[in-house]
Amino acid sequence: MGRIRVLSDQVANQIAAGEVVDRPASVVKELLENSLDAGANRIRIEVEAGGRKLIRISDDGHGMNRDDALLAFERHATSKLRTADELLSIATLGFRGEALPSIASVARVSLDTATGDEPSGTHLEIAGGKIHHVDDAALPRGTTISVSDLFFNTPARRKFLRAESTELSHVTALVTHYALAHPEKHFELLSASHSLVSAPPVSRPAERIYQIFGKDTLAQLLPVAAETQLDRSGLPEPPPWKRDPDEPPRIPGSFRLSGFYSKPELQKLNRNSIYIFVNKRLIRDRLLLHAISEAYRNIIPPTSYPVVLLFLEMPPEEVDVNVHPAKTEVRFRQQSLIHDFVRDSLRNALIAARPVAGFKAALESSPAATPSLIPVPGSRLPGSPDQSSAEDTPDQPPSAAAEPFRLTSKPLTPVPGKLPFGERDVAVHFEQESLRQAAAALMEPPLPAHLSCSSDALDTLPPPSEAAAQIEAEQAATTLNRLGSLRPMGQLRDSFILAAGEDGLWIIDQHVAHERVLFEKILRDRRVEHVQRQRLLMPLLVELKPWQMVIFAQIADELERNGFEVEPFGPQTLAVKAAPVGLEGASLERMLHEVIEQSTEASNEPSLNEDLTALRTRIAASLACHSAIKINTPLDPKRMEWLLLELAKTEHPTSCPHGRPIALLYSWKDIQRAFHRI
Ligand code: ADP
Ligand code: MG
Repeated sequence: MGRIRVLSDQVANQIAAGEVVDRPASVVKELLENSLDAGANRIRIEVEAGGRKLIRISDDGHGMNRDDALLAFERHATSKLRTADELLSIATLGFRGEALPSIASVARVSLDTATGDEPSGTHLEIAGGKIHHVDDAALPRGTTISVSDLFFNTPARRKFLRAESTELSHVTALVTHYALAHPEKHFELLSASHSLVSAPPVSRPAERIYQIFGKDTLAQLLPVAAETQLDRSGLPEPPPWKRDPDEPPRIPGSFRLSGFYSKPELQKLNRNSIYIFVNKRLIRDRLLLHAISEAYRNIIPPTSYPVVLLFLEMPPEEVDVNVHPAKTEVRFRQQSLIHDFVRDSLRNALIAARPVAGFKAALESSPAATPSLIPVPGSRLPGSPDQSSAEDTPDQPPSAAAEPFRLTSKPLTPVPGKLPFGERDVAVHFEQESLRQAAAALMEPPLPAHLSCSSDALDTLPPPSEAAAQIEAEQAATTLNRLGSLRPMGQLRDSFILAAGEDGLWIIDQHVAHERVLFEKILRDRRVEHVQRQRLLMPLLVELKPWQMVIFAQIADELERNGFEVEPFGPQTLAVKAAPVGLEGASLERMLHEVIEQSTEASNEPSLNEDLTALRTRIAASLACHSAIKINTPLDPKRMEWLLLELAKTEHPTSCPHGRPIALLYSWKDIQRAFHRI
């Protein structure tokens, strides 16, 4: 007798459920997507016990007639796809026809649905994959699906469920994501009749961010929008998954990008605050995450992540959504074009905006304040497979080793987490505000109370559109463009330049300001091979460990192009004969050690995907750091003026190559407020 058997539908569905439904949040995801696909404008989600006991979703979409309602629970039954060709241009969120049968195989499900065109609607009950009850029912147009006792018949699965609060935070994060992608729709989330999300329709994404995360978060974000025409000439061959000789010519279209990105001072320890939507579908994509990191390169430290909400729109045939059962991953046809488009749009926006750190923000983003923002697991995408991989585990606070820059520049900089001027007063003054901000801390799956738009805190605020507009106006005003016209008044402890400007009082960290100026100059000079070197009177001898000699050999060429003349001098010693102008003695030796140390780390870190640009940037950052004016150095007015003028000319006058703020603004408005003049 043969050994092979065909699995029953029930078993096949449970296997599919293993991929699609792994926790309450993934049920919510599938049902929400169905409601959106049905054209719903209002979606209400109720959960009990974090969704383990009950998940109920009601929508006002187009509903189903009786036949469809019965069919919907069959495996591979879908109204969204007919032929494999259509897969290439799928515009709906679902298409696999797997979700409902999968969910019904591992829970008790009841469905109430009506199209509004027929005399009656349909009520249906199904448990463990078996239909128990079908009936006509008088119902308004739309669909309500209730899923109770998730995994009641699969105890092994049930064991993997986490605490109710954890599951609830995942559900909350998920609903939040979809609400952000669809500001024009009404979303409500209730847990045991307690409102967690209440987001009535609004006309602009900024208003939705305000509804969901509050005013403080919105104030930390800047808008970005860009568009690029698809260049179809000279495109690489489409990948095999789309190569089809009968394929009709592709419709020309464009890539559009819109969204919000954080100012450099807002830094996160992981990527959980980066949201990427492709054609309104929330996805996790390494390529785009990389593009975002690239945009922020040398604006924030390599171990930190920004907050980004990115909405990409493109013709459906440009993106393959059929890559992962939970549809959280996609594949782009023109990978590098999209990567570069995202990187450049964000980078340009950052350069153009030149956002300035205010006192509050700088205090909050200092390393000491960051732990209060440590994420709850909720903002993870359910079903996303790459969460545990090496590249995606920066959840721990960055180790000292991962931040070589900070370590070596420590003696020159203020103690981390403390601002060197009147810090107590400022901190006390803003304490309550900062606590509120930290708690509302955006994108970390917000605490239920803060999510609710009906909470007391938000009741007292102006309506979203007004507040959002006001914040946007303030964002536009506060840029560093006027740095060049600042009037330096003196130094604070020979370390910080105080300057008066139209917008208020500026405090500029002289070391990091100079560092930024030098960093950009070094990169520029290197690009045009115009590096100035100076010959040392006596060669400087530098001792290295054997493995460091190996690393040195790898980077020797690039060092030479940066103005160094270094030769091996015995098996473990280098002789430095010439160096870039402005760097000598102990600083020179420290700089060399630092670059070799960092290159060793980079070579140990395979995921870093080290390239020449990264090495060049590292050398430039290190050179800049060690050649820049130190703190505790008196400066005459001419030099201060020169420094401010040079800083104003840089691309990123707001943060040093390691991500620390360069200039803080005590705004005229805040000064007036503090003196009770307004
Ligand atoms: P898919 O979404 O991949 O088509 P599902 O199993 O999620 O597969 O749903 C099966 C079908 O049931 C859908 O194609 C759709 O026609 C119908 N359906 C599911 N949910 C709804 C809803 N909320 N409103 C209207 N129709 C729905
Ligand atoms: Mg579906």
